[in-house]
Amino acid sequence: MGRLIDIKGIGPKTVQKLNRLNIKTTNDLLFSFPSKYETHKINDFSSKELDKELTLVAKVYKKPRIFFIRRNLDKLSVQVEIDKVIFYVHIFNRRFLSKSLIPDTEIVITGRFLKNFASFTASNIVLKKNYKLGIIPIYGFKEIKESTSNKIIKQILSFDYSISETLPGWALDKHKIPNINSLIDIIHNPKTEEDIYISKKRIIYEELLNFAVKIQALKKLNKSIITINKKYDITIVKDFIKTLPFVLTKDQQLATNDIFKDLKSNQQMNRLLQGDVGSGKTIVSIIASLAVVTAKFQVAIMAPTLVLAKQHFATFSKYLSSYGIRIGLLTSEMKISEKNAVAEAIRNNQIDIIIGTHSLIQESIDFHNLGFAVIDEQHRFGVKQRRELRLKGATPDILLMSATPIPRTLAISIYQDIDLSFIKEKPVGRLPISTDVVAYEDLDLLLENIKTELDKNHQAYFICPKILNSETSTKISVNELYNILNTELGNQYKIGVLHGKMIEPEKTSVLDKFYNNEIDILISTTVVEVGVNIKNATVMVILSADSFGLAQLHQLRGRIGRDSFQSYCYLVVDDILEAKDRLKILKETNDGFLISEYDLTIRGPGEVFGSIQSGIPIFKMANLINDQEILAQAFEDATIIMDALDVQSKRLRNKAIKSIESYNLD
Ligand code: ADP
Ligand code: MG
Repeated sequence: MGRLIDIKGIGPKTVQKLNRLNIKTTNDLLFSFPSKYETHKINDFSSKELDKELTLVAKVYKKPRIFFIRRNLDKLSVQVEIDKVIFYVHIFNRRFLSKSLIPDTEIVITGRFLKNFASFTASNIVLKKNYKLGIIPIYGFKEIKESTSNKIIKQILSFDYSISETLPGWALDKHKIPNINSLIDIIHNPKTEEDIYISKKRIIYEELLNFAVKIQALKKLNKSIITINKKYDITIVKDFIKTLPFVLTKDQQLATNDIFKDLKSNQQMNRLLQGDVGSGKTIVSIIASLAVVTAKFQVAIMAPTLVLAKQHFATFSKYLSSYGIRIGLLTSEMKISEKNAVAEAIRNNQIDIIIGTHSLIQESIDFHNLGFAVIDEQHRFGVKQRRELRLKGATPDILLMSATPIPRTLAISIYQDIDLSFIKEKPVGRLPISTDVVAYEDLDLLLENIKTELDKNHQAYFICPKILNSETSTKISVNELYNILNTELGNQYKIGVLHGKMIEPEKTSVLDKFYNNEIDILISTTVVEVGVNIKNATVMVILSADSFGLAQLHQLRGRIGRDSFQSYCYLVVDDILEAKDRLKILKETNDGFLISEYDLTIRGPGEVFGSIQSGIPIFKMANLINDQEILAQAFEDATIIMDALDVQSKRLRNKAIKSIESYNLD
């Protein structure tokens, strides 16, 4: 490892500039890879076109003239000749070139003929003797000329350097990627596009491999967190499953098995159950909760909204009350005295399953012996809250449930150390929801269609992006839509309104009426987005659908099609031409995994996941979406590395463990 100052062409000024870029040694320079490449080749003059970037060899015809346009802006114009054709070349702020542009000198010009072939606007002019053909690395070091960077790097490459390999030899062979020394050679000096490709591949692979090893190490660490294993009564559980009004789907069975394996073990469960909307995650959590209660532990169920917490309370009660299980509800709207009474009952082990909103963990509640916590719709739930929960009770087993499912490889990267179970198939007999994009001006026609459904005694949701009208927005509000629907349909059908600004008893009463089919049409904001399960509803109309994300639209649509009836979703937009393309995927598929993957490629993980954004790793070159294939390979190899004996594997492991130790884990 050499000092920068010893390199020819590097003075103290350049050293300072490099230091500012965190480049301190010659080795650092070797690892300062080009940010991009330019391919230099000469275009054929006879096939020139207007407004196309061209690089041409020309001869200076007359010495240049300089025009001062204003402060800091001058223009150099020089007449040149190619194949006996004479034309002007203009370039800005390069008057220093004028001395070297002597008539008959050969130069290379890059730029465009903008309006005609008499005048060429150049972005670059180089003397032909200095012009290199082929692939040229561009370093983009701040304040340092490319020619300088290139010269310096070339010099260092000519030294006798030897870098020790960071990847196991078997991995290099397996993926046909260069070893570290040839990587450095070809990345600074690629001869072909293939050279660039394989060096990038190695860098991406190495980044993702380091990441994957870290996750494996983290998982290993998690496995060392001990909980008390749950000695549940399998006979009761099996009987319960037998009495269900339906048969569990294959995926539900597999997920249940995963969970039971975790419960049985004395390692802490840290599992994410991913399933599309309506795939039946709730019943899986009910089965697991029953098991934990038979093992004499308490259970906490947390939902993102009050509406959903109440629905879970009703569902759990319906399924489990005949087992003598005591189920409690704790919500923020309760009176202090009521809350206190529930908290007391939890402390004294008089409640087996407590259901509440996510704020349950923030309330100062002591459990008698919390053994299992379920967090529904966890994408609404931050990493921090998850950690808070882990601090409650004696490391309860934790089951997260998500209805924004994402493909496995991506899920692994985003949820890192969490084990995953997937429910991909829907219960049998579910028909795909028919989905259409409809222009707002056709609302009348749409209402006629919907009447047919309502007349079958089915119910409909109408979702609006906002509650009240405002002058600044053209989006339709709940109130406005109520007026319209009330005029059109009010004498035939009962219409209810639901939104977040209503007081709790009103919300509950409206939703109860909708559950009991006393209301035909529910006009609502996105408060019904997650979880609400009303099987008789078969119509979902989303107004201003273009103002929602795809994953969110799919969630909203998931409120219907929860039984064997054919259901209909209408995405109403103002500008149908503009919206149709973006919303097409919803029309084409009901598969939430596909939709979220598509959404992720378009908007990126940060946008789609919002609150868990902090958990998404940042890479220099790798991209979790585009490089999924390499990511999968990295994970595969990381498992090998955890036990491999070669030097590089050991080093990778140690590095991962070190970086975990410096984390602030819990
Ligand atoms: P989500 O996965 O969106 O939370 P839910 O758990 O609310 O879905 O389930 C949706 C509906 O499907 C519920 O009414 C539930 O009773 C029903 N259900 C769940 N599993 C099955 C099954 N295996 N067969 C038929 N219906 C089922
Ligand atoms: Mg649910």
